[in-house]
Amino acid sequence: MSAIASGTELDGSAVDELATAFGGALIRPDGATFDEERRIWNASIDRRPALIARCGGVADVISAVRFARKYAQTVAVRSGRHSYPGLGMCDGGMVIDLGQMTGIRVDPHARTARAQAGVLLGDLDREAQAFGLAVPTGIVTHTGLAGLTLGGGIGWLERKYGLTIDQLSSVDLVTADGEFVRASEEENADLFWGVRGGGGNFGIVTEFGFRLNPVGPTVLAGPVIWAMEDSPQVLRFYREWIKEVPDELTTIVTHRRVLPLPTVPRELHGRHVVVVGTCYAGPVEEGENVLRPLREFGAPLVDGCVPMPFTRHQASLDPSFPHGWWYYIRSCNIAELTDEVIDILVDHGQRIASGVTVFSIYHLGGAVARVGDDETAFGSRDAGHVVNVIGITTTGDGFDQEREWARGLWTALAPHHENVYVNFLMEEGENRIREAYGAAKYDRLKALKRKYDPDNFFRLNQNISPR
Ligand SMILES: Cc1cc2nc3c(=O)[nH]c(=O)nc-3n(C[C@H](O)[C@H](O)[C@H](O)COP(=O)(O)OP(=O)(O)OC[C@H]3O[C@@H](n4cnc5c(N)ncnc54)[C@H](O)[C@@H]3O)c2cc1C
Repeated sequence: MSAIASGTELDGSAVDELATAFGGALIRPDGATFDEERRIWNASIDRRPALIARCGGVADVISAVRFARKYAQTVAVRSGRHSYPGLGMCDGGMVIDLGQMTGIRVDPHARTARAQAGVLLGDLDREAQAFGLAVPTGIVTHTGLAGLTLGGGIGWLERKYGLTIDQLSSVDLVTADGEFVRASEEENADLFWGVRGGGGNFGIVTEFGFRLNPVGPTVLAGPVIWAMEDSPQVLRFYREWIKEVPDELTTIVTHRRVLPLPTVPRELHGRHVVVVGTCYAGPVEEGENVLRPLREFGAPLVDGCVPMPFTRHQASLDPSFPHGWWYYIRSCNIAELTDEVIDILVDHGQRIASGVTVFSIYHLGGAVARVGDDETAFGSRDAGHVVNVIGITTTGDGFDQEREWARGLWTALAPHHENVYVNFLMEEGENRIREAYGAAKYDRLKALKRKYDPDNFFRLNQNISPR
């Protein structure tokens, strides 16, 4: 540690030495691209590291870890840049970035894929969909596969094929000691259990192995939109209807104001609405029957539910969550949409001020709930719904107000909170992380952390402290 000039600077000659054998790029604060390279998805977070090591391959990751152990007090690990609380970026210290490692190889006969850690969700979909296959991942294509997978991964295919981790077959990982290991059901099985939900606590994953399953490539999917005044009736209908729907169908309910997109009728722009987003991962004709009651309920303003390429559906929410806006997130899981919960949701929905703020209610169950709770580190398989409240502004203007609104809705739901999905946490402290896993699993994760990272070298994450 003697070479550290201060908490915010790294020894220049040590960095020069690292550079001699580094395949990727080492970006220092005086570099021309530094401001671009330190940027993350959530523009409300602005941090300046002392060094960003953009790794070109596994050898770079190993060198970066060994270097950071010696010279850096703080280390962040970054892949897709989408951490809500910006945990992939640090003030001072070193960022080990895997964003350039974007290789994907699909084996259509074995129905498997290998994806490097810098892959974004849309990239994996594109490669797998060329063969009518997919991994269940998240709902925005520019999200990083690495952080999403390590926390669990929920999205449009979850009820049919489970969480992202439920189709994970192996990871290649560099430990806190700079050792390269593989974890799977057969090799380092304890570590494989931990990385399926335990986040970046146990090492840096360089590559993932997945099983692939058939999807589309054409699926019946899209939004059905009603005026927000109709939300009390829509949500009451919805909660009964989803009790009967098959696992092929995943739905996400959103309350928001309509974005002024060219694809949406002009007269709806800015209007408060409730949206049931749908994706039927089975034959389109079958989906038509399953979705008919929803589409015929009340008087929808828009029925955008049509057969479309799965990749197009996956990209449909991208314009709602672009890079560079200001985001504040509060999340909780709830068991069901009781009358009381519905009243709270509708009341706060009607008070959304920002044209880009949104809250979403994911419907879990299906394949997610069929995997045994102890089989992976993921903490809340039995959740009925994940509620994700996101106060958003396009710049810093008005952000405080949206943050207060998001806190208000989350607090009003407090009597109904069950637990929380770890990837939807901000920096909320140890109790909330324990809540995400449950006490018993949290203790098991702590024991694993003592084995793989006893010094808590990887601590800029939803941290499971070894102590
Ligand atoms: C627009 C948007 C949409 C989202 N939609 C969904 C969704 O539908 N479903 C869902 O489940 N989640 C969703 N999320 C949450 C998402 O899963 C997390 O934000 C996740 O951490 C993003 O991963 P990343 O690689 O992009 O992030 P980064 O900011 O690069 O990394 C986040 C954290 O993950 C860890 N990490 C990253 N890379 C590695 C690695 N290679 N090895 C070890 N640890 C690593 C580190 O602890 C890091 O701090 C969404 C987030 C955003 C911003």
